[in-house]
Amino acid sequence: MGKTEMASQQSRAGADRLTIAIVGGSLRSASILRLLSEVENIDVAAVACQNVSAPAVRLAEDLGLFVTRDLSEVYQISELDLIIDMSEDSATHAALEAQRPDGVEMIGTNGSELVWDLLVAKKRGEEQEKLFVELQVAYDKIRSHERRLQSSKEALERANEELETRLAEIFFTHEFFKALTSFSTVDDVCSLIVDGANGILGAEVSVVYLFDQDTWTFRLRAAQGRSEEVFEPVVPVTDTVLGAAFRDGALQEPDVPADAPSAAWNRQGGDVRSQAAVPLRTGDHVIGVMVIASAHYRELTPAEMERLQVIGNQSSLSLQNALLHEELERLSVTDRLTELYNHGYFHQRLDEEVGRASRFRHDLALIMIDIDGFKEFNDTYGHPRGDKVLQIVSNVIKDNLRDMDIAARYGGEEFVVVLPETDAEGARAVAERIREGVAACEFVGGEGVPPVHKSVSLGVASFPRHATSPSRLLEAADRAMYAAKREGKNRVSLAKR
Ligand code: GH3
Ligand code: MG
Ligand code: MG
Repeated sequence: MGKTEMASQQSRAGADRLTIAIVGGSLRSASILRLLSEVENIDVAAVACQNVSAPAVRLAEDLGLFVTRDLSEVYQISELDLIIDMSEDSATHAALEAQRPDGVEMIGTNGSELVWDLLVAKKRGEEQEKLFVELQVAYDKIRSHERRLQSSKEALERANEELETRLAEIFFTHEFFKALTSFSTVDDVCSLIVDGANGILGAEVSVVYLFDQDTWTFRLRAAQGRSEEVFEPVVPVTDTVLGAAFRDGALQEPDVPADAPSAAWNRQGGDVRSQAAVPLRTGDHVIGVMVIASAHYRELTPAEMERLQVIGNQSSLSLQNALLHEELERLSVTDRLTELYNHGYFHQRLDEEVGRASRFRHDLALIMIDIDGFKEFNDTYGHPRGDKVLQIVSNVIKDNLRDMDIAARYGGEEFVVVLPETDAEGARAVAERIREGVAACEFVGGEGVPPVHKSVSLGVASFPRHATSPSRLLEAADRAMYAAKREGKNRVSLAKR
């Protein structure tokens, strides 16, 4: 690029550009030079000074500017707009003034003060602007820190809340497990399990069904969250979520379709929207199933499923203990062969029932039953066949009684039944049905074998008509039974007053 081109380019841009020459090399001149050199639309074209080692001269040389000792050369600069005279020498100033062409301005020491102030102010403005930008950046950083702090504070609060619930849960779980070891009846353990499911997992509904090996069904034993009628009392072992847990172990259904067969343990259609079940087992045997359910969608987290299983496992142990305990108690009052109550339990219950009947002035009846010609049967068919007869007769007796009646094996082939709130005539009718029932049974038979029938003789006595004490009542019934034998067996005899 040639010199003329450069000049014309400068002049094109020249409208808002200022070309300046500085006269004088003092420290002050150097300062102004440095400030001006940083201003975008100002060109410092030359520095003129007699002293070649003056500060402004040295700076100008460093900046690559034109430096001269000859003042007149200043005026040879093309497109010079302004001379800043910092010489502080009136002769120099006068000389410059004398040579100054039109169109070139000049400011002296006073004017340069003003320029200085302006430049310093501008510089300060720039610095402030820079500072402002830095402040802005810093402020943004602070804001984002603050936001992060806020979100970590919220996370902290959430974690805290979670910790508190976990802590409450751990506390409840601890209490639950402690309680499990101190409850000994099956009903107590089962209600504790449903309460535990509610406390530990927040279950809206929880139920415990126990497995009944004889009928291959589940029977409701404890429930929480709805009234008892809502739940199916007996569920076949293969049905519903109970059957699924029985077969496959713990499972959940977070989104149960309306009227799904898997929720049929609950009789209220649509009451179960989500459910989870866990088997209660000892070793390989399932002894029951616990189900938790809700009318809302709920998906248990893996941790919650694990807790459900822990509840199931821990309570299974206590449940097994309670079941054994219950079984032992049952055995202690039950006759092994016939599964009727035993002699001891019968006497205890007879005393209680006679006491109750006299307190409330209720009727009460007793039936004494003896198998006819049983010795002969044993001699003919053998003792084991005789045992079978005892079992069949016991079942006939049971089938003809109400829940409140108490049937016991009184002796070898003698049975006794207590019928609360029943008078002599009522009891005689029951006795008659038992007699007919036994008479209708075929105790030995099959292909080519003629059927063998057996009969029973029955004596009936009632409170307060025939006696008012347990022992007298028994004697009265026993006498009536022997009267039936004397009269020809296979009949019912009512006690005499
Ligand atoms: P009756 O018509 O006068 O009552 O005659 P019976 O033979 O039934 O009378 P008895 O009281 O003399 O006989 C009772 C028999 O019951 C004697 C015994 O062999 C039998 N017996 C008692 N307990 C059992 C038992 O647990 N199993 C079996 N198979 N037989 C029993
Ligand atoms: Mg007998
Ligand atoms: Mg007999």
